[in-house]
Amino acid sequence: MSASPYPLGLRLDGRRVVVVGGGAVATRRVPALLDAGADVLLVAPELTPALQARVDAGRLHWVPRRFVPEDLDGAWLVQVAIDDQMAAAAVSAVAAERRIFCVRADDRTAATAWTPAVTRHGPVTVAVLGGGDPRRAMTVRDAIRDLLAARLAPDGVAPGGVAPDGVASAQDRPDAPTGTSGGRRAGRVSLVGAGPGDPELITVRGWRLLTEADVVVADRLVPGLLLDELRADVELVDASKIPYGPSRAQEEINRILVDRALAGAVVVRLKGGDPYVFGRGGEELLACAEAGVPVTVVPGVTSSIAAPAAAGIPVTHRGVAHEFTVVSGHVAPDSPASLVRWDALAGLRGTLVILMGLKNLAAITATLIAHGRSPQTPAAVVQEATTGTQRVLRSTLGAVAADLLAADLRPPAVVVVGDVVDALDA
Ligand code: SAH
Repeated sequence: MSASPYPLGLRLDGRRVVVVGGGAVATRRVPALLDAGADVLLVAPELTPALQARVDAGRLHWVPRRFVPEDLDGAWLVQVAIDDQMAAAAVSAVAAERRIFCVRADDRTAATAWTPAVTRHGPVTVAVLGGGDPRRAMTVRDAIRDLLAARLAPDGVAPGGVAPDGVASAQDRPDAPTGTSGGRRAGRVSLVGAGPGDPELITVRGWRLLTEADVVVADRLVPGLLLDELRADVELVDASKIPYGPSRAQEEINRILVDRALAGAVVVRLKGGDPYVFGRGGEELLACAEAGVPVTVVPGVTSSIAAPAAAGIPVTHRGVAHEFTVVSGHVAPDSPASLVRWDALAGLRGTLVILMGLKNLAAITATLIAHGRSPQTPAAVVQEATTGTQRVLRSTLGAVAADLLAADLRPPAVVVVGDVVDALDA
């Protein structure tokens, strides 16, 4: 066994890295190089479609031929991503002559550098080398990733600070705070989409922010299991229990977000589905911005797409629908307060997804039919989609309102209208 490797974090921003090979290994390696800002030169007679797409997007340079020694002119690092050992050895011989570190996919023992298994957690990068065994490295990496996801302390990196080794701090992250208050930790608010119900359907970033939060302000519709996993010291505010009418309650939520953040807390406003789909996320963002509180939005998987999907309904299906329209049914079609042109929607032939529509469903379906949509159009109701208590009702536009009552379906539910409802039925 040779001496142990010496770990380094290479700062590749603007520096030339040569990748030799255009197959599966190169396809896996190139994104992290681009992410590090490297000036990537790809040398290969042919490319995978994924690499070709990056070339077409102008993200890297491609020379469509086999390697020649001049390709290493100006390079800081070379990645050999080809199976042909003779050709790979030729590249690493040129690299060694020029004192350029060379990673080899075909032969680890012949390489002068190894790529570690990596997990990134916000500003923190953990790189694991397995002593020559990539599988061991991945096993250890996976264990560390789980630990970090479960328990990264909110103070893991001081906001606005710089780690001792000069590694950029959280401030470079899009979700990072933009200021400190008198030396104290700066507060901030993230409006996070929790997804439709299944706790696994939150985004990776949303989950990370949740694990970093001091205060979580949650809606009624967010998956309970997500809240179950919060640290014991996290303050949990149940936004659905705020004892005022809807508009006062919203003001109260805005006030809680702003006050906690100004007091230095890392606040997550956790909202069902996507924060901006009938979620009043815009108002919360404005309230924070007006108070000078740093605020970001993390999109979520919206029930308007997830609920149909969970019921086996593709909102578009080739040859069936070229559009889907998401509409709120919480205001009756004949109400002066309605902002929806139901008559115009009746003229569409694609998919209609109605949220908050159960109470007014009879009036909505009658209006759609009166303006020309066929009562035979397939329709479905999906209740509590993606949860253990999901229920699906299949019907037609003409019958769905009555069927709904008979089946005793309740909110939260999404109504889907259109031929896609039957598209996957055999
Ligand atoms: N921001 C949310 C929607 C908020 S409005 C999103 O993007 O999903 C609330 C409505 O969303 C409910 O009345 C219901 O129509 C729908 N909804 C939310 N979660 C749902 C679920 N798990 N199953 C079915 N419908 C759901």
